[in-house]
Amino acid sequence: MPNADVDSHAALPTIAVLATGGTIAGSGSQGRATNYRPGQIGIEDLVGCVPGIDAVAHVKGMQICNVNSDDITGAHWIALARTIDELAARTDIDGFVVTHGTDTMDETAYFLNLTVKTDKPVVLTGSMRPATATSADGPMNLFQALSLAASPDARGRGVMVAFSDAIFGGRDVRKVSTFQTDAFSENDFGCMGYLIDGQPYFFNGSTKLHTLGTEFNASEIDGLPRVDAVYFTVDADPGVIDYCVESGARGIIVVGAGSGGYSTPWNDRISAFAGRGIPIVRCSRVGAGLITHDDFYRGDLVRGCDLPPQKAAVLLRLALTKTSDTTLIQRMFDVY
Ligand code: ASP
Repeated sequence: MPNADVDSHAALPTIAVLATGGTIAGSGSQGRATNYRPGQIGIEDLVGCVPGIDAVAHVKGMQICNVNSDDITGAHWIALARTIDELAARTDIDGFVVTHGTDTMDETAYFLNLTVKTDKPVVLTGSMRPATATSADGPMNLFQALSLAASPDARGRGVMVAFSDAIFGGRDVRKVSTFQTDAFSENDFGCMGYLIDGQPYFFNGSTKLHTLGTEFNASEIDGLPRVDAVYFTVDADPGVIDYCVESGARGIIVVGAGSGGYSTPWNDRISAFAGRGIPIVRCSRVGAGLITHDDFYRGDLVRGCDLPPQKAAVLLRLALTKTSDTTLIQRMFDVY
């Protein structure tokens, strides 16, 4: 893998930048924010576009992959977590920035938050506009992410996302706009803090376990089991659940209405899977709030807590590397 060293002052922290692609590495028609190809620009050029970074950190670049983040896979996640763990064991690396497409950044952030075994800062960032757009947001986001990863104050807070002057927690961050540069939020929980001129200001943090506090370690995971999400709408055919199970899904996320609700035909179909070793997690399509126990829903179900479906899928896939016992999986959904 190509290595880019941009050295400056000896006393500065050294940050490893692990590049995976996305719009921040995208290129297209000059001046336009749409119609571009993500994952075109390499790590050297990405870092080279950030004015002022020489005064913040030594940067060591590594290209992990260069893809549209819709093509990120569980194998990428495992490779990324293992790379971070290996580099974190070195005394000459002080923190990490992962550049990533925004589409699935919230999933990768949660996976890393649950698996990396370090308290050194790990910060994801990306951009909504390609490098060739007018007012590209990538260089500023990368500057802020590097500044955050270089800050001693960022240690031990779990994996974070730096985006559009804000700091978000890896567990709760979600993409909330398809095109605006202010594209991330923690919804009900706001954000962890702000970034101004490269200085982090922290206000909030999740109470859920992360990084060194979890039972997941990427060095022990060879692959992630398949989990499918099924989305309930009025009159939707519950046969989609049978399809998922029959075609090999090891777990199902049901994206219900309201507080994770679905119709009586869905309830009948879902209860038929009770005790068959295919955990089913109830989540909501609402985007805010919490799933609690409800006696109406039959079957051996796991409550997805406040996790959106895509994050519940990350946790269920990790959980299934340990167990398919729904009591144990429910505990994981309660603490992570
Ligand atoms: N499709 C792009 C990606 O996720 C979008 C982005 O990065 O903003 O890679």
